[in-house]
Amino acid sequence: MAVSVPFHVPDIGESEIESVLGVLKSGWLTMGKETFSFEREFAAFTGASHAIALSSCTAALHLALVAAGVGPGDEVIVPVITFVSTLEVVIYLGATPVLCDVEKDTHTIDIADLEQKITSRTKAVIPVDYSGNPCDMDALRSLADTHSFALISDAAHALPSFYKGKMVGSIADYSCFSFYATKPLTTGEGGMITTEDPEKAALIRQLRLHGINRDAWNRYAKEGSWMYDVTQNGYKYNMGDLQAALGRGQLARQMEHLEKRESIADRYNRAFSSCDGTISYSVRPESRTSWHIYPLRLNLEALSVTRDRFIEELREHDITTSVHFIPLHHFSMHNALTGDGFPHAEWIFDRVLSLPIFPSMSDEQVACVIDTVTTLLNKRRR
Ligand SMILES: *Cc1c(COP(=O)(O)O)cnc(C)c1O
Repeated sequence: MAVSVPFHVPDIGESEIESVLGVLKSGWLTMGKETFSFEREFAAFTGASHAIALSSCTAALHLALVAAGVGPGDEVIVPVITFVSTLEVVIYLGATPVLCDVEKDTHTIDIADLEQKITSRTKAVIPVDYSGNPCDMDALRSLADTHSFALISDAAHALPSFYKGKMVGSIADYSCFSFYATKPLTTGEGGMITTEDPEKAALIRQLRLHGINRDAWNRYAKEGSWMYDVTQNGYKYNMGDLQAALGRGQLARQMEHLEKRESIADRYNRAFSSCDGTISYSVRPESRTSWHIYPLRLNLEALSVTRDRFIEELREHDITTSVHFIPLHHFSMHNALTGDGFPHAEWIFDRVLSLPIFPSMSDEQVACVIDTVTTLLNKRRR
């Protein structure tokens, strides 16, 4: 079967293209009506009280830390398996990042290791819903209450994801979403932060646009005024209406996209569960994951192949995969953060790769991935 399978293809519908063209023809390209509508619709979808559209998830994580009052002398704990954004924002603010191991089976923050790392200086914890699999939010909430730190969810993968029936977005103090090109909802580049706290929401709204006390929308609109004040030192982190128009169309199809990824994940799970060349990945039983990523974990003890070589063999069969993520302490910038090591993260990193999973994947492409993976694994059995 000569089928080529890319790692990801964004699903952009005709109506989304029409909406973006509508904005291009409207004469208003920056933050305005589309952005504010997108925010309202995103809040309604996730069940969050406030949603603020931003230029990226990295910007969302940064502003969440600012809103939580993080600064020099504070410690912020992040899992060692995540994208580097989760860590870099801590350093922006002169705070001290502390790395924490992840659970072997869910790849989400390990509560036992986290408890060891909490100190009186811990000001925030940024758990990551790896692949869309929500963290143990009850345990995190109880630790946040006991030790009074801010709970900032890196929900870059978690749209839509559910924890005990509640959608990710209204569970943590702040939830940060990514609309990067490969994410479940894409605007090319973009992000969103949600919170239940009206004052923090107002602060973040102001910080995203230079700290000025009204939006450019008001400044340039007919009913607006040129006058404004700057009451905070802010950032240039707003979203524009072109991105927002695309985002609104994407948002309307999120449940449909989720169901497509779920059916692909089901087929993968069924095919690989009986295969002793792999070790299954767990979704928390009280959760429903977005399946933004499908992690495949090689049972190295039963195979005569490394993860790196296996990825090359798949590529030779025209299947593109990826690895999420290189543990943060492996980077030269961050190898001073190794501490006593992260045994689960190392175990995962030796074994894990991410298989293609995207809504427009054809049955033939899914079958090709399953066939190729199982054939290669059988060939490499020890
Ligand atoms: C993609 C990603 C980010 C960063 O998102 P941007 O929108 O590109 O800033 C942060 N955290 C995780 C876990 C991600 O996968």
